[in-house]
Amino acid sequence: MSAERKIPFFNYQALFASQEQELMGVLRDVMSRGAYILQKDLLDFEASLRSFLNVKHAIGMADGTNALKLALLAVGVGPGDEVIVPAHTYIASAASIHFVGAKPVLCECGPDHMIDVDSARRVVTSKTKAIMPVQLNGRTSNMDRVMELARERGLHVIEDAAQALGSKFKGRFAGTFGAAGTFSFYPAKVLGCFGDGGGLVTNDDAVAEKVMLLRDHGRNADGEVVAWGTNSRLDNVQAAVLNFKMKTFLQDLERRRAIAAQYDAGLRDVAELVLPPPPNADDAHHDIFQNYEIEAERRDALKAHLESKGIRTIVQFGGKAVHQFAGLGFDGTKLPFTERMYTRLLLLPMNVTISDDDVAYVVQAIRAFYGRGK
Ligand SMILES: *Cc1c(COP(=O)(O)O)cnc(C)c1O
Repeated sequence: MSAERKIPFFNYQALFASQEQELMGVLRDVMSRGAYILQKDLLDFEASLRSFLNVKHAIGMADGTNALKLALLAVGVGPGDEVIVPAHTYIASAASIHFVGAKPVLCECGPDHMIDVDSARRVVTSKTKAIMPVQLNGRTSNMDRVMELARERGLHVIEDAAQALGSKFKGRFAGTFGAAGTFSFYPAKVLGCFGDGGGLVTNDDAVAEKVMLLRDHGRNADGEVVAWGTNSRLDNVQAAVLNFKMKTFLQDLERRRAIAAQYDAGLRDVAELVLPPPPNADDAHHDIFQNYEIEAERRDALKAHLESKGIRTIVQFGGKAVHQFAGLGFDGTKLPFTERMYTRLLLLPMNVTISDDDVAYVVQAIRAFYGRGK
């Protein structure tokens, strides 16, 4: 085992280098056509996303955060409303609720790190207008239970599927259960472009129509301004990159699942760790492993040990649940399960540029830390 070995958490340069020629061809093609805003490559990408997810409408958006905001606006969430969201998520989920004028109300996640529907049920009030399950780490929440609560209490469901393109629950894709689902194409996401990018999908014609107006200054297909809107379009050049990456997307997801299976086989007997459910753990979930998020005893010491072996890990979301960021107004919020979990969370390297050999090296370093040898 060489001490100089380096396994970055995400290797942007290696990912680009592996497809440099083809990608430069894609960029040259778009730029030589001068096709930048709302052009053919965007329409092609939207069509491909639509057919991939088997959904009626797919709309390219500037980024995942704006996709969430516009989804909330399109179902009529605004001032005076409350929206329930798990506290174990990226700040963007809660911020999108804040920025449409509504109040994010946080709930716990369960042992699989997905929304705890019982905890969500306890915070429903007469003001609750919507619920935002977060399809975290490439896993889809138990959507039977989320939809049941939503029906019971008359709530809109907006899925934050930023991390879950291609993930399924009972054969149905993340993002396609509720009024709208959103995706992020941030460079490190499972389908990543060369900057910011996002998408919104819906089976509801009225939601789609509102989002189309909102993302392009309120302009309809004839260019006439018929409503207030903003600018939240996916750049055509990013769409062209995403079209290219869609060609190998299913293989990329399979590679992630294979890496997850290798981590699972190598670490499952280490009692100090809690691992995510492996691929095919049950029939209901098809996980695509945007992240491989473990819980670990002596997490900080493990992280430092791995760092000393050249292995870069991270604690997701800056190491804090949403309510733990000072100054956001959650001073009274207590979520003991989530808070304890945050002392234990760690993301191991998970992306298509790492080799089986890299994974074996990480496994061995973790086993050594806990005195497990081979
Ligand atoms: C990445 C991410 C977002 C935001 O997406 P951007 O494209 O970066 O705006 C929202 N929610 C979750 C859970 C994410 O991981």
